Amino acid sequence: MEPARLWKPLKTGTLQCGLCSHFCLINVGERGRCGVRVNQGGELFTLVYDRVAAINVDPVEKKPLYHFMPGSRTLSFGTMGCNLGCSFCQNYALSQPPRLGQAIEGQEITPAALVRAAKEARCASISYTYSEPTIFFELMQDTARMAREHGLANIIVSNGFMSPECLDELAPLIDAANIDLKAFTPEFYENVCQARLEPVKMNLARMRGLGWWVEVTTLVIPGLNDSPGELSAMAEFIAGSIGTDTPWHLSRFHPEFNLQDRPVTPSSTLEMAWETGRKAGLQYVYVGNVPGHPHNSTSCPHCGKPALVREGFTVTGGSRDGTCPSCGTQLAGRYSV
Ligand code: SF4
Repeated sequence: MEPARLWKPLKTGTLQCGLCSHFCLINVGERGRCGVRVNQGGELFTLVYDRVAAINVDPVEKKPLYHFMPGSRTLSFGTMGCNLGCSFCQNYALSQPPRLGQAIEGQEITPAALVRAAKEARCASISYTYSEPTIFFELMQDTARMAREHGLANIIVSNGFMSPECLDELAPLIDAANIDLKAFTPEFYENVCQARLEPVKMNLARMRGLGWWVEVTTLVIPGLNDSPGELSAMAEFIAGSIGTDTPWHLSRFHPEFNLQDRPVTPSSTLEMAWETGRKAGLQYVYVGNVPGHPHNSTSCPHCGKPALVREGFTVTGGSRDGTCPSCGTQLAGRYSV
């Protein structure tokens, strides 16, 4: 167990975790809602600092980040645990066991070993991902500091429900983020994810101003968040609060975990969502989880010709330096560390 950061004592024995926007009040012997932070004797400890549960070298496109050092490799890792309880979680075997009181599995890999592994695998970055990196903040912060010293970029893939203080702490360390915008109604966040929409909107609106490159992902679920009105509201929020050059990834849903009564998202719905994003002024809208779909590639916003071509998560054509091969327009994004 490692001492946790970002918490404060309240009245005798009880403390408040300040890591995410749940701000859990935790009595002695109890854990927060994520199940990985425990009050022991009036002090908060993290149970996942030495529990890396998934680690891989991925193409950065798999995060997904399509406008951040395209074609580069990123060492990706995560622990078990999440602060949300989405009924449709596509990664529940990693995210949900601690919330359900089940064993927290993983292996000790120190920040120094993670950075060394990234360098040895010729990665350009380290990604904090797979589950929810907010809940393994201490391991992420220590690794990100060391990664910076070794010339590696830092990427966070998150539900965006961290507290403002957590975002302040991460601000100087993170280079790029992919943040879920799961829906655009308070009811969806409360009933389907056991969270709240407003903190996610506030954090998304702040991140670009911190100097991060930001891309947004929405898992489009039939009957739950796929109405034209809701998709249009999401697209307008992204365009107005983050920027019209923010990539928006519209991802196909598959029945998982506790949401088994919906079909796979039809291509026609994803294409309607794509049109909605473009109509709102977003220049880079992508359809994900649909092999071979043409909207997986980047078209130049100036001349409309292919600028970055992808097959799955592999860049197969175009210019990795972010300039359109046809007209020379510079695409939005980051193309060097
Ligand atoms: S990270 Fe969030 S869910 Fe976990 S204990 Fe802290 S406030 Fe609660």
